[in-house]
Amino acid sequence: MIHDAGAKSAPAPGVVVVTGGGRGIGAATARLAARRGYAVCVNFLAHRAAADATVAAIVRDGGRAIAVAADVAKEADVVRLFDEARARLGPVTALVNNAGILERQMRLDEMPVERFQRIFATNVIGAILCAREAVRRMSTRHGGSGGAIVNVSSVAATLGAPGEYVDYAASKGAIESLTIGLAREVAAEGIRVNAVRPGVIYTDIHASGGEPGRVERVKASLPMGRGGDPEEVARAILWLLGEEASYSTGTFIDVSGGR
Ligand code: NAP
Repeated sequence: MIHDAGAKSAPAPGVVVVTGGGRGIGAATARLAARRGYAVCVNFLAHRAAADATVAAIVRDGGRAIAVAADVAKEADVVRLFDEARARLGPVTALVNNAGILERQMRLDEMPVERFQRIFATNVIGAILCAREAVRRMSTRHGGSGGAIVNVSSVAATLGAPGEYVDYAASKGAIESLTIGLAREVAAEGIRVNAVRPGVIYTDIHASGGEPGRVERVKASLPMGRGGDPEEVARAILWLLGEEASYSTGTFIDVSGGR
């Protein structure tokens, strides 16, 4: 049996849900996915104008996209997100679990418990909920035709982010366990599950940490001497989503300039 994707005509990429797709890495991923032929469901939480702008850019380029407000930490919102993607774009074939948050840089012994709950609600429960809904729709076990999930972890999962946000780093560690376990669980059901580990990327997330200029501060310490662009992460995500990665599951790509 030939598994070489190039030996047969590639199937249409289908429909991708990108959580947190209005800004930063998610927006770059949504735009690149559309250029690769996906219809894109751009999820957002609060910044509707940014999500609408991402959709408008895709449509201007001849692609298909919709913006859907949903809090990934809320089960009813996540179910509605996937239902709406299905109803307006077609059967969902891919998920990019990108939505993520961090909070102000500080030591663990200064952090209130409510902060842990917020970080884990979005970064961990959100990603697990979205993965569950994707599996329920894509798994051949449930009558689906398979698909791919890419989780957005962070190099913080392995470096730990001491003195900045070890809670965030721990949440990304959970994403990595999810990636490994779910990949094996659904490997025989037509679904691949992989992850990317971005390093220090130019997005708004650093402002949430209280240091909008963080990339400029740390870039000289990185082996490549520069921060990354969201598009550079998007390219790795799209590779893992697509047929080129047809025999890869439960694996990770570092997009971190050698860090
Ligand atoms: P960003 O520019 O701050 O964007 C975060 C996105 O997540 C926004 O679109 C936001 O929606 C969405 N979001 C947050 N909470 C949500 C929720 N509860 N439900 C739905 N959407 C939610 O961040 P980014 O840097 O692009 O980060 C994207 C991912 O990359 C995150 O998982 C982050 O941990 C990871 N990452 C980033 C870096 C980096 O250096 N930038 C490094 C490693 C990993 P709204 O637009 O509506 O607010």
